Amino acid sequence: MKILIMGGTTEASELARALSPMPGLSLVTSFAGRTAAPKAPWGETRVGGFGGVAGFTAYLRSSPFDAVVDATHPFAAVMPSSVATGCETTGTPRLRLLRPPWQAVSGDSWHSVASIDAVPNALDSLGARRVFLTTGRSELAPFTAMTSTWFLLRSIEAPSQLPLANADLILDRGPFTVSGETELLRAHRIDALVTKNSGALATAAKLDAARALGIPVVMVERPPTPEGIQVETVADALAWCASLCSS
Ligand code: NAP
Repeated sequence: MKILIMGGTTEASELARALSPMPGLSLVTSFAGRTAAPKAPWGETRVGGFGGVAGFTAYLRSSPFDAVVDATHPFAAVMPSSVATGCETTGTPRLRLLRPPWQAVSGDSWHSVASIDAVPNALDSLGARRVFLTTGRSELAPFTAMTSTWFLLRSIEAPSQLPLANADLILDRGPFTVSGETELLRAHRIDALVTKNSGALATAAKLDAARALGIPVVMVERPPTPEGIQVETVADALAWCASLCSS
């Protein structure tokens, strides 16, 4: 039994670890290579894009797998459709492991937008002047024209250049605590928070802190994901793999 995990998330690593005791299983985890030296906790690691749908399909043909678990990030907009098409073309069973999105609760002031490009308008409507931007180092272009807004950026790795006129950068990867996030928002007099709806536990504390301080949140909602079998937890993905192994 050979399984390919499309990685880049905590869930992908947790699934690789959870599958490790399964007898007779060989596992490959694939990374895009966005962060330095990724390594799967168990099994083989491969790094780098495949060259689009055709490349991914060719990879599955030359190196057949009994199943593919697509555990890429909820905001991975391209890879999931390559995986869906490649698996369909080669008849490879596919599972999408996608953690649930965050949901607003009483006291939240969320302003949902469909894409990062819509965030500047939402911030203008809110009259925001001091913005905590947590959407990542690679998507700063939409904010370059907002020269009268100050941004606090937080990302795991530094951007190659900082294209914003008024900005400070914090490098950190979490997990974050509510008290730490509350202190950060207060210390920088933040009046709006921008985040993607990743649904990650490790980065959810900022939402609790924003609610407690009455700070509005501009929430970038997820891109669509291909149809097919989908689970939300590592436990359910493990059960799906185990059922394939025993059939
Ligand atoms: P994307 O738009 O779906 O991917 C862009 C290209 O990167 C894909 O077309 C593919 O290249 C390659 N790629 C993506 N995931 C790959 C994987 N697991 N193995 C091999 N190649 C992969 O995704 P993205 O937003 O650039 O994210 C890249 C990776 O970072 C993903 O694996 C994702 O899980 C992780 N990540 C993304 C975010 C986010 O906010 N977007 C956050 C945390 C982690 P080819 O077309 O050449 O095959």
